[in-house]
Order: sequence, then structure tokens, then C-alpha cells
Amino acid sequence: MKISEILKNKSTISFEVFPPKNKEGNISSIYSTIEGLAKLSPDFISVTYGAGGSTKGKTVEIASVIKHEYGIESVAHLSCISSTKEDIKYECERLKEAGIDNILALRGDYPADATNFDPENLEFHYASELNEFIGEHFKGQFCLSGACYPETHQEADGFKKDLEALKKKVDAGAEYLVTQIFFDNDYYYRLVREARKIGITVPILAGIMPITNAKSLIRTTKMCGCTIPYQLSTMIEAHYDNPEAMKEIGINYAAQQIIDLITNGVDGIHIYTMNRAETAQRVFDSIPAVLKELN
Ligand code: FAD
Repeated sequence: MKISEILKNKSTISFEVFPPKNKEGNISSIYSTIEGLAKLSPDFISVTYGAGGSTKGKTVEIASVIKHEYGIESVAHLSCISSTKEDIKYECERLKEAGIDNILALRGDYPADATNFDPENLEFHYASELNEFIGEHFKGQFCLSGACYPETHQEADGFKKDLEALKKKVDAGAEYLVTQIFFDNDYYYRLVREARKIGITVPILAGIMPITNAKSLIRTTKMCGCTIPYQLSTMIEAHYDNPEAMKEIGINYAAQQIIDLITNGVDGIHIYTMNRAETAQRVFDSIPAVLKELN
């Protein structure tokens, strides 16, 4: 089923997982994660695509298991920056064969090791081109979605320009959007407000990451360029060397963000689980049932 169909009727709760990284290419460790997440009855689970396509085979396999073995709708991420048009056609054919209906169409990051990467000869430059290409070659076969950035994409020349680029992505076929992680809900509200003003009408799902240790918080904020609000940074400063306290802070903070977002009519909550089902479960347990029912 297409996620756009689900979103016509309700706000969604969804999770993101990534293919396990190990030398053997063994994905079995993801099954216990999916099993744990399935108990929370999400509307869908999305599976990331390793930078430069490093885990692409596993993305299709895991998305297929989620859908066919657990009966939960799945979304396969697909990035294009290091791909040719033929590569993308091949990937889409594989997704079709696996019965996957939903693609999060991304540009991806420029490869850190750029030896085999020639920016002059790229077949895709932006996610909007990927949306257009899939729309043209697989007309109506996939529900396409895109990423968006409450605090502005790091390469963009300001918030306004990033928003204009986002409009192009939606015009090219993205039927809903999922945000980058943010810790200050005001950035999400600003994005939605400004997006609506320029005619972006598709649902914008809020991406929330429960941070459970100080190291991962620093890594994440560096990678995503998101701000840590004063309230959160004070709590971290006080407890960064106490792993149990850090975990409690992260779970409670994420739950408070979600409660505020649901109260303000968010289109959907997308939890970056980092493959930790127990953390997602604990965040869920901290949200009053009445709010979850409203969804
Ligand atoms: P784009 O939408 O193409 O934007 C990239 C930059 O180009 C922005 O600065 C934008 O303002 C600008 N731009 C876009 N279109 C135009 C235009 N027409 N003219 C001028 N400028 C333009 N990465 C992975 O490798 N695998 C994943 O699975 C993955 N999942 C993600 C999931 C989510 C929800 C998010 C938010 C990010 C994810 N990423 C993933 C990271 C993503 O690939 C990077 O953030 C990447 O740098 C940008 O991808 P994009 O699709 O947003 O790019």
C-alpha cells in the first residue's frame, strides 16, 4: 500500500531502521529490532540506503521482510548521487519485484572518498531529478517521498533557497516529506508554516531521534547541523558521564517533543530508532494513550 493513501486518512507513526553493518553482510540481527518495533503497530517502517549504495541489496531485502513477514508497510530509501540512470532503473525493478510500493528518493551525500567520483559527469544532481526520473519510467508504480530540513540543508544558500528547492522536489513527485532530526520543535513549525506559504501542501512528517548517550548526540548534531536547545544542553552537561541518566533524558526529551507535536496537529512522527526497539518502546510508553489514540 502507498503511504500517501494512509496519510489521506490519518497522521502516521513510523520508524527508521538501517541495514546492520558487518563484514559478513549478515542481516539477521535486524529481525529482533523489527520484531520489537512491530509490537508498537507502526504505520510503516523505512529502511535506509547506505551512502553511495553501500548496503543497497540489504535495503530491498529488509524492506521486503518488513512487508511480507511482519505485514507492516515498508519504505525503501534510495539515493542517486553516485548512480547512473541504468542503476536506478535496476534498483526500481528490484523493488517492484520485491513488492515494495514506497521509495524515499534522496540525493545522498557526496562520497567522502571521492577517488571514483566525478562531479562533472553526474547523471543525477538533486533528489528532484530522481523523483522525476522514477515518475517518468515507473509512472504511478511507487509512492515517492523526500527529505526536508527544519534547520536548512548544510549546503543550501539559506532557508529560503532550500525551501524553493523543496518546492521543486514536491513538484517533481514527492507525495510527502520527512524531516531531518531536530531538537527544537519551533524549527519544525517554522518549516511547515513557510512551506505552506509557498504552496507545499503535502504532509510533513517530523523526524525525532531519542538520543541515549552524549557521544551519539555530538556525532548526530555535527552530521545533521541541528541545534541543541539550552534546556537539553544543561541536562546533558549535568549527566554526560552517567549513561543511565543520559538514556532517561534522551527518552523523556523525545517523548516531550512528540507530545508537543501531536498536540499541535503534526502530520506524522517518524522515529529514527538507530535499530534500538527498546528505546522506541520506552518513548512510546511515555506518551499518554489519549494522544496516541488521536492518531
Ligand atoms: P536534495 O533535495 O537534492 O538537496 C540537496 C541540496 O541541494 C540542498 O542544499 C538543496 O537546497 C539543494 N537543491 C536541491 N534541489 C536544487 C535545485 N533544483 N537547484 C539548486 N539547489 C537545489 N542519506 C543516505 O545516504 N541514505 C539514506 O537512507 C538517507 N536517508 C535520509 C532520510 C531522511 C529523512 C533525511 C532527512 C536524510 C537522509 N539521508 C540519507 C541524508 C541525505 O542523503 C543528505 O542530507 C543529502 O545531503 C541531501 O539529500 P536530499 O535528498 O535532501 O537532497
